[in-house]
Amino acid sequence: MKNLLGGKGANLAEMAGHPGLKLPVPPGFTLTTDVCTYYYANKKSYPKALKLQTQEALAKVEKLSRKKFGDPVNPLLLSVRSGARRSMPGMMETVLNIGLTESTLKGLIAQSGDERFAYDAYRRLITMYADVVMEKAAGIAPKAGRGIRKLLEEKLEAFKRKAGLVGDTELSAEDWKMLVLEYKKTIQSTLGTSFPDDALQQLWGAIGAVFSSWNGKRAIEYRHIEKIPNEWGTAVNVQAMVFGNMGEDSCTGVAFTRNPGSGENKFYGEYLVNAQGEDVVAGIRTPAPVNAYSANDQSRDFITLEARMPAQYKELYGFQKKLEMHYKDMQDLEFTIEKGKLYMLQCRVGKRNGVAAVRMAAEMHREKLIDAHTAIMRVAPNQLVELLLPMLDPEAERTSNVIAKGLPAGPGGAIGRVVFTSEEAVEWAARGEKVILVREETSPEDVDGMHKAEAILTAKGGMTSHAALVARGWGKCCIVGCSDLEIRNAGRNFHTKSGAIIKKGDWISLNGTKGLVYEGSLALVDIDINMNQAYKDLMKLVNKVKQMGVRANVETPGDALQAVKFGAEGIGLFRTEHMFYGEGSEEPLFQLRKMIVSTSEKERRSALNGLFKYVKKDVKDTLIVMNGYPVTIRLLDPPLHEFVPHDKEKLKQLSKELGITMSMLNRRVLALHENNPMLGHRGVRLGISYPEITEMQVRAIFEATGELLKAGQKPFPEIMIPVTVIAHELRHQKAIVDQVYKEVCTKLRLRKIPYLFGTMIETPRAALRADFMAKVADFFSFGTNDLTQMSFGFSRDDIGGFLPKYLDLKILPDDPFQTLDQDGIGQLVRAGIERGRENKPGLKVGICGEHGGDPESVKFFHRIGMDYVSCSPFRVPIARLAAAQAALENPRQTGQ
Ligand code: PEP
Ligand code: MG
Repeated sequence: MKNLLGGKGANLAEMAGHPGLKLPVPPGFTLTTDVCTYYYANKKSYPKALKLQTQEALAKVEKLSRKKFGDPVNPLLLSVRSGARRSMPGMMETVLNIGLTESTLKGLIAQSGDERFAYDAYRRLITMYADVVMEKAAGIAPKAGRGIRKLLEEKLEAFKRKAGLVGDTELSAEDWKMLVLEYKKTIQSTLGTSFPDDALQQLWGAIGAVFSSWNGKRAIEYRHIEKIPNEWGTAVNVQAMVFGNMGEDSCTGVAFTRNPGSGENKFYGEYLVNAQGEDVVAGIRTPAPVNAYSANDQSRDFITLEARMPAQYKELYGFQKKLEMHYKDMQDLEFTIEKGKLYMLQCRVGKRNGVAAVRMAAEMHREKLIDAHTAIMRVAPNQLVELLLPMLDPEAERTSNVIAKGLPAGPGGAIGRVVFTSEEAVEWAARGEKVILVREETSPEDVDGMHKAEAILTAKGGMTSHAALVARGWGKCCIVGCSDLEIRNAGRNFHTKSGAIIKKGDWISLNGTKGLVYEGSLALVDIDINMNQAYKDLMKLVNKVKQMGVRANVETPGDALQAVKFGAEGIGLFRTEHMFYGEGSEEPLFQLRKMIVSTSEKERRSALNGLFKYVKKDVKDTLIVMNGYPVTIRLLDPPLHEFVPHDKEKLKQLSKELGITMSMLNRRVLALHENNPMLGHRGVRLGISYPEITEMQVRAIFEATGELLKAGQKPFPEIMIPVTVIAHELRHQKAIVDQVYKEVCTKLRLRKIPYLFGTMIETPRAALRADFMAKVADFFSFGTNDLTQMSFGFSRDDIGGFLPKYLDLKILPDDPFQTLDQDGIGQLVRAGIERGRENKPGLKVGICGEHGGDPESVKFFHRIGMDYVSCSPFRVPIARLAAAQAALENPRQTGQ
């Protein structure tokens, strides 16, 4: 029904005609979306039968309303409104009071006994019609500057100024009469045609204008954002007018069956007495609350509808209850009271924020209004972000100017004072200052400052750049690739394209969910997820339904705890190198550096011995927190030179410790230089060049696991080899693992230590040769960050330079590092799984790239048979919800 009649048309018909509703709806009819399709396919003309059908429908409306369209004595007036399948609020056009002409005007005056009202209705029609039909639909709206509506509004303002009037309601019938004349003259002189004085001509003009507004600029842009197909077209609703502007016993309003801001199950709405619907939307007058619950700071002293018209309020209250029960969702309603009689003008599913969406879904399920399936599908996974992180107060954002825009890397909101170096961030934070670290880009050496900062803002980088990854892992607000800003004067200030100059110490505010930067400190709204009962209830339903596991990418016991709180069922990626960044990393980092610049196995083994206890402790602490859950521990991945110190002091200390001269050390450091380190000496290549590195890590893992086993715990490590391309690499590493396993079992006197041996699939070759990889590996974990980087040939750290243009020009639909490119990379993943399971049917398969927390990608991973996804702790709830939705949309045969 909706496809043909549009949302508004279908709901109007249902409200009026459904036996369970039968609400008072002004009579009307709908021209279907098929007419719109025809209109565009046939050079803006209509099907032959339309004229006659419209006449017939109009006759029925005349009969029901006991008025006649175009009749000078008892005129019927009509509204003409758009209505697509999905609501596109404010994106298309509406014309009210159609059918008012010089002659019917007299009839309206006689009928209403109110000349002022009739002229007010007439001037509204003239303004709307001139703007929507005569200018916009005719394609003659000026690109910039003042259109006809503006010109007419200026006339009104000038008139009021001259007469010393403030509000529109102060104008008398005589005043409007004079203005109407002036309006008509202005239209004639500006548009070159006169305002049509014929009711039918007005009707067809308005219908055509609504159809053509489907292809207006606003509507097209909105469809693009909301992914609404262009072919759908809009319906046109023609309906008898009812008037909320017929005096003090008339009003018009908008209401919601539940609070769309909080989700609370309370009737919420606003109304304006003696006004037409457009006045509420236009915000010219401050509306009054329908009841005490709906009052806000501005409307607290106004009389509620409940107090002003108790009988009508009671009726409206009953209707809204009925409508919610009928549609089983929160409804957004428009109503009008004409001389004490209530009419329902519209009802549709109401838009809501994330907090409200979760609350409504959980509570409606509890109230048995909806089933579990519906409750789970009601919340968009990304809406959960709003529940997990503090955010900028939307009201404060609405009234502030954006000074720069970047990529939304870490969601939530943050405020702080600008600093330009990691050291400053640490120092200022130690003094209790809130800081935002602004950098050209970040490197591992900035981690401490990043951790201490409230948020991170970088001029370069993409969604999986280091800063973004780290920030998301911490649930920290972060904007990267913000090419609108330029750091100047050796980091004393930054300039934005919008002209703002922000100095060190100035306050800024970030909206990391949208990538927006504001000057000054905006208010923050704080949220504690564990206090949110509705969230907990919804997630219980989610857990019953989802068929895919959700794990977290975690490096520290603290993060592991957080992940478990968010519902993680294991760790899918424990990046061992993270122990060398940030707090407490001083000593292990020094040992690592010693190892890196070693030139003989003897030197290297001595450094590795120094490192061993740190790795073991790190692994053990996390296995303790994750007791009973699997923990995938990835062996060292980054190119070693990333850890080489650059400051002189540290280099000196190193040369002393190694007993070599500074120039010898410099030579060793230089030898580590690579032109393309991300494709260089990293991942498994390190373990092949230096088997003792693998040996040390594996020993640490087995010893930690063995000791915990003996202590009665249930540790379950999964050893994972990164950046592999060929099964021989895995065999090489597996031999080391087997040897160390035997040694540790003997040392700890254990017969068995449970573990799995697997590999990351993050190079295209590994995906294509997955059948061979699976012969050696017990599990695969797809590293879609590197897989995307290597298959696209886009550097994940530099994508900020060109991605915005690609997205602008729609060359790419999304950032491929954020939303999996299902057509390309997705096919590699699919082939990898199929081929892997050909040789090893029970092969366990997961994904640990950033895509593991992206809802659309998670759904894809469900469809292609993954066992689990793994993502940053803060995205775990999002992935869980997306996995449950995927299971409902495409249930798997087996429950795996
Ligand atoms: C990956 O490449 O997808 C991955 C998870 O590893 P990293 O991001 O550490 O390179
Ligand atoms: Mg990788």
